[in-house]
Amino acid sequence: MPEGHVIHRLAADYAERFAGRPVRVDSPQGKFADTAALLDGQPLTGTEAHGKHLFLGFPELLGWVHIHLGLYGKVAFGTGPAPAPVGQIRLRLANGDHWAELRGPNTCALRTDDERAAVAARLGPDPLRADADPEAAWHRVSRSRSAIATLLMDQQVIAGVGNVYRAEVLFRHGIDPHRPGRDLNRAEWEACWTDLVLLMREGVRLGRIDTVRPEHTPEAMGRPPRVDDHGGEVYVYRRAGQSCLVCAGPVATATLAARNLFWCPRCQPR
Ligand SMILES: [Zn+2]
Repeated sequence: MPEGHVIHRLAADYAERFAGRPVRVDSPQGKFADTAALLDGQPLTGTEAHGKHLFLGFPELLGWVHIHLGLYGKVAFGTGPAPAPVGQIRLRLANGDHWAELRGPNTCALRTDDERAAVAARLGPDPLRADADPEAAWHRVSRSRSAIATLLMDQQVIAGVGNVYRAEVLFRHGIDPHRPGRDLNRAEWEACWTDLVLLMREGVRLGRIDTVRPEHTPEAMGRPPRVDDHGGEVYVYRRAGQSCLVCAGPVATATLAARNLFWCPRCQPR
């Protein structure tokens, strides 16, 4: 599932291509056709991202298109007139200069502004939003017996962090992923939050997740770059059994809350 940086990039991409001008809206697949017909010809007024939720704004009486990609959702952008529809396009935006096709989302629905605010209110603070309050997340973390690795993936605690960022931020701060949230001290939490803000902003900028410090890049270490469908240079994510870039010990993996967890037992001791 895409992590928050992907959704914030999408918000920027939609706004850059479509905001402030009337847009053709349709649903070649048909599943969103009635709502698309309501929106067709209206201007896109703005976009918002909250964690893994994307909102495309239309004039106030219409509201917001709420998109959650889930596991299979994808957006494709292109320039010029929209091509003939291929596959199951739930939502298509086009303005002659640009087009955007949304396929396979978990959610694609029209919401009022109150409903959009309610979705956001159920989420924890999003490190990529300027209005995020890290205290709200600390309040939950510091009172929980759940593993910090589980809490970081809980969208009600902190929004937008997925499996890669959680593994990497815990590694970068030497925190055993199994430690209960309430066992962390405030300084550890603040360091993790600050780091997530930096790492995720970098993710938005580059469109991929890079988490290694300058001294651990392939160039600095004289090692081959990582080859993986899931992006950039990382310390532990999907590196089970390989050598830790810091201590050379083997990277461990386990299943926690139905997701694969990766960590270095030497650098992140119990
Ligand atoms: Zn290590």
